[in-house]
This record gives sequence, C-alpha cells and structure tokens, in this order.
Amino acid sequence: MLEVSGLNHRYGQGERAHVAVRELSFSVEAGELACIVGPSGCGKSTLLRCIAGLIPPTEGSVRLHDDEVTGVPDDLAVVFQDYSRSLFPWLTVAKNVEFPLRWKKIGKRERAQRAQEALDAVGLAGVGTKFPWQLSGGMQQRVSIARALASRPALLLMDEPFASVDAQTRFDLEDLLRRVQREQQSTILLVTHDIDESVYLGDRVLVLSSSPASIVADLTIDLPAD
Ligand code: ADP
Ligand code: ADP
Repeated sequence: MLEVSGLNHRYGQGERAHVAVRELSFSVEAGELACIVGPSGCGKSTLLRCIAGLIPPTEGSVRLHDDEVTGVPDDLAVVFQDYSRSLFPWLTVAKNVEFPLRWKKIGKRERAQRAQEALDAVGLAGVGTKFPWQLSGGMQQRVSIARALASRPALLLMDEPFASVDAQTRFDLEDLLRRVQREQQSTILLVTHDIDESVYLGDRVLVLSSSPASIVADLTIDLPAD
C-alpha cells in the first residue's frame, strides 16, 4: 500500500542545513494501523508531510499503491493535531465534513449521506447543523476525523491527533479510532510522541531515534482482541 524508501529530508542549505529525516525505509500494508513513535522534534511531522506530498523529500521516494507521490494524492487524508485551525468556522459541521467531497466532485445527495455516516461513526450523529465553535475541542477533533473518513481515503495520516485534548477525551478518541479502524479496515499511519498511545493503538509500532529520524525498531503488537 505505502512504500517509503531511502527517504531523506533536509531543511535549508549548506552550513545551516538541518537533517530532519535520514535514510528512512518502511512499508505499510492495507488494513494496518501503524504508529510511528519518537521524541518531540525527531522529525515525525516532516516524515508525515513528505508522505502526504506537502513537502518534497530531499532524497528517496514515497509510493502509494505503486504510484510515486509527487503532490497531495487524491485518496489520502490527513488529520493534524491542531483541530482549532483545521475546521472552517463559517461552515456547519456537516458542511465541513462534506467539504473535501466537493473537491472530488461527488454529488450533493451522496455528500450529505457520507457526511451523515461519518458523523454517526464518530458518535456525532446529532451535531451536523451546529458550527465548530459550538463544540468542545474533543468534539471538534472528532469532526476532523469524520471529515477524513468521509472521503474514504486509501491511506489516513494522523499527526499527533490526540495531543491537544484532555486525558479522558484522548482515551475516548483512541478507543473510537481503534473501533472505526477495525470496522472499516482503514489503513492508518499515525505519528505520536507517546509510547503508551502507540502500543495501545498500533498493530505495529515503528520506533524512531531522536533527530534526525531513523527507524531503530519495528514491532508487531499482537494483543488479544477486546
Ligand atoms: P516532530 O514532528 O518529531 O516534533 P518535526 O518534523 O516537526 O519533528 O521537526 C524535526 C526537526 O526539523 C526539528 O529539529 C525542527 O526544529 C526542524 N524543522 C521542522 N520544520 C522546519 C522548517 N520548516 N524549517 C527548518 N527546520 C524545521
Ligand atoms: P510538532 O512538534 O507538532 O511537529 P513543531 O512545534 O515542531 O510541531 O513545529 C510547528 C511548526 O513550526 C511546523 O510547521 C514546523 O514546520 C515549524 N518549525 C519547527 N521548527 C522549525 C524551525 N527550526 N525553523 C522553521 N520552522 C520550524
């Protein structure tokens, strides 16, 4: 599904260059929830942005079902940490969730239906007509997740998605993500600095060294199903 090979990313030039990612290679299979864990500043966001096609790698390649990623792929969605900046305040929750579907030229009726299904899946069935600022932070992040799911991405990238919510909300959202991922067999690559979170969520945990990011362990997590 996803194949990262020999990925390097360097910010800046010459003496002021900073290597954020060094010689990273790994792949993610369809249906897998893979977590990448590493200390703050080690290069996780940089890696994710390279995979998302938001920044070009300095060297190496990213392939999504055998196609080289050069811009933001159509069938990829990203959930960022900062939910407060990710939703449009002037659109209702339902319209926010539908927004990427407009880009994909999906008709009005199907947009509404998919938005409703995605909001149901994240436990927000009744809030489609509200505006983001009427919701708590945890609920806003659920909306971001619903928006990502509604476009049915082949790959969902998540960058510290639960780092800005309180502990109880984080537990709820982690459980929600696990449930939705198993139900929908989504392929997810999630980066976090929280080792507990990575082991709890992941089928697989890739451990990164501190800056520049390179893989020091690739663990399969095989816990009994709950
Ligand atoms: P993480 O997501 O693991 O916290 P980042 O990928 O954000 O790490 O950053 C990795 C390193 O690259 C850090 O040292 C950071 O300061 C540096 N960095 C990140 N973005 C930029 C940028 N736009 N320009 C220069 N350096 C950057
Ligand atoms: P995170 O830890 O969530 O990855 P950071 O605090 O490292 O976020 O970075 C926040 C923003 O600042 C990012 O857009 C990143 O690219 C930018 N940034 C981080 N470090 C640097 C840097 N040394 N120079 C320029 N931009 C940077």
